[in-house]
Amino acid sequence: MQYINIANQGVKSLSPYQAGKPIEELERELGISNIIKLASNENPFGFPESAKRAINAQLNQLTRYPDANGFELKQTIAQKFGVQPNQITLGNGSNDLLELFAHTFASEHDEVIYSQYAFIVYPLVTKAINAVAKEIPAKNWGHDLNGFLAALSDKTKLIYIANPNNPTGNFLTEQEIDAFLAQIPETVIVVLDEAYTEFTQKEERIDSFSLLKKYPNLIVSRSLSKAYGLAGLRIGYAVSNPEIADLLNRVRQPFNCNALALTAAVAVMNDDHFVEKVAENNRSEMIRYETFCQKHNLEYIPSKGNFITINFKQPAAPIYDALLHEGVIVRPIAGYGMPNHLRISIGLPEENDRFFTALSKVLHLPLIK
Ligand SMILES: *Cc1c(COP(=O)(O)O)cnc(C)c1O
Repeated sequence: MQYINIANQGVKSLSPYQAGKPIEELERELGISNIIKLASNENPFGFPESAKRAINAQLNQLTRYPDANGFELKQTIAQKFGVQPNQITLGNGSNDLLELFAHTFASEHDEVIYSQYAFIVYPLVTKAINAVAKEIPAKNWGHDLNGFLAALSDKTKLIYIANPNNPTGNFLTEQEIDAFLAQIPETVIVVLDEAYTEFTQKEERIDSFSLLKKYPNLIVSRSLSKAYGLAGLRIGYAVSNPEIADLLNRVRQPFNCNALALTAAVAVMNDDHFVEKVAENNRSEMIRYETFCQKHNLEYIPSKGNFITINFKQPAAPIYDALLHEGVIVRPIAGYGMPNHLRISIGLPEENDRFFTALSKVLHLPLIK
């Protein structure tokens, strides 16, 4: 018996998600220590102290089920952003939410639109429910929204937009998003995935929650894994109109967010100082990466995220391997159809120095930082 034969049609075309290599695995494989990981867009400052304190206070409550409605976290998010608690849906990471949107709104043979080189979870959830994937060819590695419009049909149920996009870092302005939404029928759900929004400058950041007032078919999804530093706990949130939130709430698992994640999220959402520090490091270190690439004639995709993607114009796998031997883990993105690129997550200044030194050695470049 080959069980793939009885799997649902869409599942047959899936391959497992390729995560960044864990530090412990590289230690075991190469027997080296002092490894740095710049591979999964995690927070280089580590787990926030505010979240640690909140978790410690919660530890003796773990025998109880978590609050299925996430009351306190929804209140916190609502106050912080001026939205209503009944607009909010919580997820076990925003991945959970991205999947929930597909389960709630799309069925077999419905069409789901997303961009080439966009976050790989969109094709994954689309195919897993046997919906039809409409992948729109990218323009300059980013979303071609005119291509999206041209692909609309009466079967379109869902559109995913990552802004900034991962793994390319491309960014669409509020004007572009607004003009796009104005042309989308209300019967099509548009997901704006803003996992990296905290890394954009305040003045360019999209006021996506006010767009919700104009577009009832919009869902904004956010993550606490990146700027907020809670990747290991798994927590994210979506904001939409209350009717959509109610539907999502029917489909989600009753206890999809664990008690430690809920309490840590409340603490860190009130910890503006932490997020500011993270974003500031990202801004100044991103400039160092850009300067490094320019000095060495390395082509990169300008990024509004906490990572930068470099085009080596040759297969990047050997460069990735050589960097591993230098104790530096970055992210190959051949699985995205970008075999000549590597994605590097912006780390602390000393980690980025390690990367600059390692890459210079691997590519036989003169060491100029
Ligand atoms: C990292 C990421 C997410 C989600 O991360 P979670 O840890 O599940 O919250 C969502 N979208 C994009 C584009 C991402 O890069």
